Amino acid sequence: MIENKAPSKDVSEQDLLSKFPLAAKKDPYHYSQFEIAGISFGPKNVPIFAGPNMVESRELILDCAKNLKNIGASFLRGGAFKPLTFPYRSKKYNETREQGIEWLREAKETYKIPVITEVMEEKYLPIISEVADILQIGTRNMQNYPLLTACAKTGKPIMIKRGFGCSLRDWLGAAEYILVEGNNKVILCERGIVSPHTHKESSRFLLDLQIIPAAKEITHLPVVTDPSHATFWRPWVRSMAMASVAAGADGVMLEVHPDPPNAAVDPLQSIDFKEFSNLLEDMKKIGMVLNKNKVGE
Ligand code: PEP
Ligand code: MN
Repeated sequence: MIENKAPSKDVSEQDLLSKFPLAAKKDPYHYSQFEIAGISFGPKNVPIFAGPNMVESRELILDCAKNLKNIGASFLRGGAFKPLTFPYRSKKYNETREQGIEWLREAKETYKIPVITEVMEEKYLPIISEVADILQIGTRNMQNYPLLTACAKTGKPIMIKRGFGCSLRDWLGAAEYILVEGNNKVILCERGIVSPHTHKESSRFLLDLQIIPAAKEITHLPVVTDPSHATFWRPWVRSMAMASVAAGADGVMLEVHPDPPNAAVDPLQSIDFKEFSNLLEDMKKIGMVLNKNKVGE
């Protein structure tokens, strides 16, 4: 299947057969197609996941659900359980964890928009999987194999964010941990990797756009991107979101907040409703060029 078998290829022909028999394509036209809460995933669709970084309050998440549904997002995103880089958060975060899941439920039921939220610890899986339409595995937990297995066993669809230091081979290995449990609704999300030039002013992470064709060459799983986490910088989110669609992404995750500079987490990377609405219209234009049936809902 891989025409160029150069030794520098991250994934060898042998790996395809022996390491990830379930994630590998059976033929060049093999692409997973499935529905999650009525939203289609597959080569013709570009679902859009939008919402605040953190479920900060009931008002915030209801406001986001209402506006994002109206604008045309497919899923509402928002972390209730969050892997924050530093432990010194306000009391607010501790108060909003389990509560956040309840607010997501209310937002989902009130505005009829499915939700995706992160799982960090197995002990919270029962309450999260009762509400979430998709379980999100964050970049830091991509290789937390017991967590992957526990999530897989719920039968819920799972998005695996690529570990920021992980290869395509590692990423597909993580997907295989879910597929081997008989759970087939797996989505891969590229969210930026570290490079010798990252963590400088020009780039915190590097959105690896090239991983989109590279992954889709060998796996049938949908590959989406998260330009918000990759760029960490609002003015660049739009270009990288457009480029993701142009490069064949099967979905885009975007951080959207009604008042980005005052977002409790990652205020530099969120865009507001108006910016999201304009961006969605432009992503739709790119989708038309590529003969996509749908970008967003
Ligand atoms: C997130 O999406 O809220 C998040 C923490 O992402 P990542 O795991 O990619 O850093
Ligand atoms: Mn973040």
